Amino acid sequence: MKREPRWPIPAHDFDAGPVDAAGMAGAKRLHRRFLGSKSCGIRRSKIAFRPTIGDFSVGEDAPQESLAVTVDHVGNALDFGRVETDTYNFHSRFGSYMTLPPVPASFYWSHETWGAALRCRPLEPFAQHLFTTRQLQLPSADAWRALASAMSVPASRIVSLDQVHGRAVVHVDRNVASQTLDEMHNDRPRADAVISDAPDVALVVRAADCVPLLIADTRTGAVAAVHAGWRGTAARVAVAAIEEMQRQFRTRATDLVVAIGPAIGPCCYEVGSDLVDAFAAAGHERYLIERWFMTPRERKMRLDVVGANRDQLILAGVREDNVHACGLCTAMHLDVLTSFRAEQAAAGRIAGAIRASAPTNPG
Ligand SMILES: [Zn+2]
Repeated sequence: MKREPRWPIPAHDFDAGPVDAAGMAGAKRLHRRFLGSKSCGIRRSKIAFRPTIGDFSVGEDAPQESLAVTVDHVGNALDFGRVETDTYNFHSRFGSYMTLPPVPASFYWSHETWGAALRCRPLEPFAQHLFTTRQLQLPSADAWRALASAMSVPASRIVSLDQVHGRAVVHVDRNVASQTLDEMHNDRPRADAVISDAPDVALVVRAADCVPLLIADTRTGAVAAVHAGWRGTAARVAVAAIEEMQRQFRTRATDLVVAIGPAIGPCCYEVGSDLVDAFAAAGHERYLIERWFMTPRERKMRLDVVGANRDQLILAGVREDNVHACGLCTAMHLDVLTSFRAEQAAAGRIAGAIRASAPTNPG
């Protein structure tokens, strides 16, 4: 079957086509590092300093390298091991056959009314949640209804935000009135994080390259949805969400499970030194900045925005084993995901949605 070619990437880019063998190898190394909780080198008491890609671990703990392989290569999925072809191949609603990129064992693709969604296994026992794909064409009313249905709530019980790349956190009370939710629909709160312990409300953030994070408190059942672009990451918006959960629900960071959805990877996220300045101005320690901003030899600087969020969560007390990144780079999977970098104004948005569970052991 003929597939659409992936987004044409300029020859000078790190993700230049397969002819650029060195570039592809580098991308795989980056994705390994980007994905691997074990190979990440981070420890709760100390974060290792890794300034260049040459230092990235490629040992036995490295996750599937196939994750950096573009969709037109996934026809050979069996070659990559641990790939369940049954899970990743299915007929879309339009009848065409679709291949989804492999994900780590902590994630899986589910079949929804619009097509595929991504779910995180370790998060699942504690909170209903999903990350949508580009097959769900937000922001149409039909798409919102489909998303609400997949989250088992009425469309009127979805809370989404007017995302402004800040660190404001919205708290949706357990006893939130319908009228308040109506007002939120008509005038979305200007914020990039929303927390709630209301089991009948779905929290939604939207992203196209920025990092969508879904967080659940395994003790209280409370949840958070966070949108973190580079500005939000510099402002530590994910940590702000956790701090607000601590205030509102007496959440303990050690009880949190976090799923990090598709976002632009360091393989594709070229940035300028102005971003380094912004992170420095925001007070991030130098060793962290050097860890998050990487400059592959003879190539432009890149930001590992997922890694930065992961580090911030762990430094805030979340257990390393409880932070799960799906590792999908939005710019490399445009048939499934959406990327502002690659598609600009035409980019759609994927959504991360999560719903609190009833408390099992409050206090
Ligand atoms: Zn990439």
